[in-house]
Amino acid sequence: MSRTLANPITTIFDAAVRHRTIKVTCTCGNVGIFDPHALWYLFQQKNWSERLPDVRKRMRCLQCYFAKRKRALAMLEVSDNSHTRQLPMPPISEWKRELRRRR
Ligand SMILES: [Zn+2]
Repeated sequence: MSRTLANPITTIFDAAVRHRTIKVTCTCGNVGIFDPHALWYLFQQKNWSERLPDVRKRMRCLQCYFAKRKRALAMLEVSDNSHTRQLPMPPISEWKRELRRRR
């Protein structure tokens, strides 16, 4: 517990380094679990902030979108469950470069 407090996960990258997934829960009950490497890659390519509070604001629920419901802020948490949403993974060379860059 103290380890988590000393080193909080604040970005997608942090989650990826620790092999945690990103779980997003919409107020409608729709849940999506994302692989952190794939999500990091998506945000990297779009040049979006990978800070978790910013990531939370970017998330859109497709079920609500198709039902034309008003967009609500989803809940975002790190998780140990396997991912349920498929996104392209970063090329391994690109991921390794990022690891080196942040060391
Ligand atoms: Zn929804």
